[in-house]
Amino acid sequence: MTLIPEDKVIITVATTGGVAGTRERNPNVPETPEEIAKATHDCWKEGASILHLHARDKDGIPTGDPVVYSEIHSRIRDLGCEIIIQDTTGTGPQVSIEDRIRCLNAVPKPEMASLDMGTMVRNSGPYEGTYSIRYGKTLEDWALKMKRAGVKPCMEVFSLSNLREVKNLISKNLLEKPYYVEFVLGQPYHGGIDASPKHLNWFIEDLPEPQDTIWGVLSTGKDQLPLTTMGIVLGGSIRVGFEDNLFYRKGELAKSNAQLVARSVRIAKELGKVPLTADETRELLGIEKI
Ligand code: ZN
Repeated sequence: MTLIPEDKVIITVATTGGVAGTRERNPNVPETPEEIAKATHDCWKEGASILHLHARDKDGIPTGDPVVYSEIHSRIRDLGCEIIIQDTTGTGPQVSIEDRIRCLNAVPKPEMASLDMGTMVRNSGPYEGTYSIRYGKTLEDWALKMKRAGVKPCMEVFSLSNLREVKNLISKNLLEKPYYVEFVLGQPYHGGIDASPKHLNWFIEDLPEPQDTIWGVLSTGKDQLPLTTMGIVLGGSIRVGFEDNLFYRKGELAKSNAQLVARSVRIAKELGKVPLTADETRELLGIEKI
């Protein structure tokens, strides 16, 4: 079941990301506040209703600095873009755990924030051996901070065991309904479940409170488009963008985040669905615009 109307889809765009989205790999990745704001505006016009935001410092390195987040939030609104702003608290292995939650102090504040629902260890790639510890107590603390700040968590679930933590936060009354859970498939480099239709169905079947939950799906690289298309079919929200996929198709770099959003909007339309606007998404999620 899903809370999203059956002729609608929610599209999140993750414009920049923390590790994979480097200029060396795709020169079209937006990095500066100005570039991110412009890319976000373009994606909102194409049909994205949520931005998942990673800020970068002047050297292009991921940062948790609320001053940089404030600048990006302001620039987005100054362009007349009404997209829902969701800041990352995953941020990237270059940023300390303490600094990752500082985006909540940005002005204007974010409307949502991601919340990675478990400890992750990088077991390959450039940050091999680094880890992000998030266990029950950390998650309770961060969920409480978000609740007090009026920021809705987007709970990122990388494996079935992470759903236990979702259940724990619900049982401790640390979340407002409807709950928002995003399934992350295909990130084996830090312990996530592999991307497959079977695993997406496992996640959906195991959701703790499906009648009160909006679920979404994201995947990476070559698995991004098939899994998000499945998400559209199954009534979820989807995430696209350079954080998850730098390519338009095999061997062809994507030109922009908006190009990736536009493709999913076209696919959704062929399947009889249109994207919810940002305000419609706010109403469904019960969040107030900043
Ligand atoms: Zn992210």
